[in-house]
Order: sequence, then structure tokens, then C-alpha cells
Amino acid sequence: MILNHSQFSDDTVIFAQPNAKELNRIKYILHVFSQLSGHFPLEYLGIPIGLTRERVSMWEPVINKVKRKLAGWKGDGASILFWFDPWAGGRILKDDFPSLFFISEQKTSCVKSFRFPPDISTRQLGWNLHLSFPLSEFNRLKAQQLHAFLARFSLLDSVSDQLIWAAGPSEAFSIADAIRLLVQSSNVIHPVWPKVVWGNNVPSKIMVFHWLAIKDSIPVKDVLARRHILPSNIPSVCVFCRVEVESVNHLLIHCKWTSSIWTELFRWWNIRWVIPRSIVDFSFDWYYGMGIKASRFWKLIGPATIWAIWMTRNDVVFNGTVPCRSFVIRNVKLKSFLWATNLKLVHGLQAYVWEQNLFLLCL
Ligand SMILES: [Zn+2]
Repeated sequence: MILNHSQFSDDTVIFAQPNAKELNRIKYILHVFSQLSGHFPLEYLGIPIGLTRERVSMWEPVINKVKRKLAGWKGDGASILFWFDPWAGGRILKDDFPSLFFISEQKTSCVKSFRFPPDISTRQLGWNLHLSFPLSEFNRLKAQQLHAFLARFSLLDSVSDQLIWAAGPSEAFSIADAIRLLVQSSNVIHPVWPKVVWGNNVPSKIMVFHWLAIKDSIPVKDVLARRHILPSNIPSVCVFCRVEVESVNHLLIHCKWTSSIWTELFRWWNIRWVIPRSIVDFSFDWYYGMGIKASRFWKLIGPATIWAIWMTRNDVVFNGTVPCRSFVIRNVKLKSFLWATNLKLVHGLQAYVWEQNLFLLCL
């Protein structure tokens, strides 16, 4: 089978013989690729990106985030249920104070009927919780907490109940506030994170790999087992140490074999390191944790290393090769040297000077 292709920024054209056998093979390869890579749906800037945008479930987290911010409220409290509706800063009181709800004598009454005194026409008010007495010590404490919480809210006599947008300074919905909300609450630790990874000067396939590692989405055995692609009777054991489960963080950082590579690379730079918790924290160190001078190089060395580890791992899994530590280290040093030279971060430097890090003295 002869396959040729032409790749553009977001399109790929595949040339093939126009017969069923060949097309079926391509279809099969694409299917296997999508199963193994499983990139989608992934979250980018808080928005899910995937092939099945029409699926409602994919948008649920986004809808919920926006809903929570829509749950601000103002009005006279006549048509909102005290215990069940998210009127108080988006909280549902029956869930936050279950023991009080349990002894409430007005479980399905509206907010207005909890105001105290009931007929005063001022915004300042207290609350009558309509609890069944006597209160236990625990519930007395809980009631105090609820009173303190409710002190932030007031009723507006002349306004009927309405939801307001609570994610921005004005009460009107705005797209800019919504984007800020989604980006902030996405599980990426640092808001500049996507920009940093995608703006790095490493080859795009390595940027993509780095991004997927941060999103815990590279097809390590642990991820494949969770997606039911690996049968459960095949152990998801790391190919390097053959003891621990092969997760993204284990493979790229925590495995004894891998961490000895990192130790060696940090020794090369005369940097003491503590094994980080996750690849997210670790990436942060490369960009910001090493000082301005070293970070210029470490944002190349870091991605080069995880890529070399991943290539070695694949070689072991698919070709049965024996992993070689010094080969990986050499490969990382050479690759980062080429990138640093191309980016003109170092001038007229011999590779051996880089490899022994003699130029550190001149930085
Ligand atoms: Zn391991």
C-alpha cells in the first residue's frame, strides 16, 4: 500500500488508490489512531474541544459553570423557594445545611416567608428559620452559621424575583465575563499556561505532546485501561521499572528510571531538584522556577526530555528494545543544543562545550 499525504495547518489530504480495500485500511488506521490517541474531547481554555460538539453531555460542565454564575438573584423572594432554589449566592441551602432542613417546619415555603419581622418595608431584615425547637447544640451552631450567611442578603419589596449574572461587575451578561469565568475555572493551574506551552520554540509535535501530558491525555497504559482499550487482564505496568502502574506522571517523572534521568540532567546544570508532584508543576518549574537565564534553556530541555522518554517507551513497547539511560540523556543534550543554536540563544558554541555545560560559566 502506497500512501501519500499533504498536511496543512488544520487539514490533511490523503492520496490513495480508489478501491475499497485501500480505503478500508485507511479507515481502520484512522480508527485505531483515534482510539489510541484519544485526544478528544479535551479542554482548551475551559472549552471542550472535540469531534462531537452536538453531544449535550460534552457541554454540561460549561453549562453548569455559567448556570452557577447566573444563580445570583434579586427580588422580593415571593416566587423562590428558601431551601431548594439557588438564590443565596448560588448555594442550595438544603444541601449546605441538611440538619436544619431536616427540622424545618416550612420546607417548601418561599424566601419571603422567612423574613423577620414579616411586614417591615426596609431592606434591613433578619430571618425566621421556622425550625422545630428545642435545638440540639449542633443545630444551634448551624443556625448561627446560617444566620451569619444570610446577613449578606436582602429582599427588594418592589422588585419581582429575577436571576442576575454574578460573574461580572455589572449585572448584565457579557461574553468577556463568561470567557474569564471559563478560563479561570478550567483545571489548568496557571492562566498563562496555554500561551506558554503553545508559544514555546520547540517542534509542534512536541508542543502537542507536552500539552497532552499536562492534560493527562497521552495514551499511557493507565489512560488506555481507563478508556477500556486495554483489556483488564493485561497489567498496566510501567515498562521501565515493571513495578508501578504506568500513569502519565509516573512515566514522565516519578519512575525510578525516569527520575534518574532528570537527576542527571539537573546535575548537568548544577541544579538541585525535588521531585515535583505532577507534570503541570514540573513544567511550571522549567518556565519560571530556574531563574531567567536557565529557564531560557530549560523550556527547551524539559519538553525535549519528556519527548525522548516517550519515544524510548514506545520503542520498548512496540519494538522490544532495551531502554538506555545514557542514550536518552545524549539525545536530550543534542536536541536542545540544536534548538538553542537555531534560536540563537548560544553563539558559536561547540557541541561538547554544551554537553559538559562549560558555557554556564559565561551566562
Ligand atoms: Zn516505572
